Amino acid sequence: MKNICVFCGSSPGSRPEYAQAAEALGLEMGRRGHNLVFGGGGVGLMGVVADSVLAAGGEALGVIPEALFRKDVAHKGLTELRVVESMHERKAAMVEASHAFIALPGGMGTLEELLEVLTWAQLGFHSKPVGILDVGGYFHHLLALLDHGVSQRFLRAEHRDMLISSEDPGELLDQLVAFEPPAVDKWIDGPGGRSLGS
Ligand code: AMP
Repeated sequence: MKNICVFCGSSPGSRPEYAQAAEALGLEMGRRGHNLVFGGGGVGLMGVVADSVLAAGGEALGVIPEALFRKDVAHKGLTELRVVESMHERKAAMVEASHAFIALPGGMGTLEELLEVLTWAQLGFHSKPVGILDVGGYFHHLLALLDHGVSQRFLRAEHRDMLISSEDPGELLDQLVAFEPPAVDKWIDGPGGRSLGS
């Protein structure tokens, strides 16, 4: 699990705990010998994670679409910055380069990236671990919505449980290392009429 992709806010959020958690995660990743893969921004929590991984001796690969690069929001001190054509190309490159994924608090960009890698895991397109650093209960409502999806049979419990959650960076990294992908495929009421729980 050398390279870890971190999705997080391009804003710092309203509470100092968010940046403190981003820094703690970056330092812990660098200390443990992990490299960072991320969206390449120097702003918000993204910049904090990248600075912290680099400060702790890790490497940081940023993958940024040309349109954002032209707005001059890229981090200036990365080990490598890849400029790509589109958001689709960026996300595919980040997934390809990473062995695990972590989401920190963030906005729509963060949620979209997190749910996309979970969706790809659910479909068996990859079997890499996915976790959230649940700072101050930020992801509480998302986790509740996923549980609701299970109770309403839009989501299998095994797939909901793929999403690892912790409030502590070290514990989260330990859980990602220990992750075993579930041995069930996606379909709930799929071909052949198999239903949830059968
Ligand atoms: P958001 O959570 O909406 O702030 O979006 C953050 C996610 O979207 C990050 O993980 C990035 O991949 C991408 N992103 C959004 N804004 C930027 C930016 N200014 N520079 C680089 N990437 C960004």
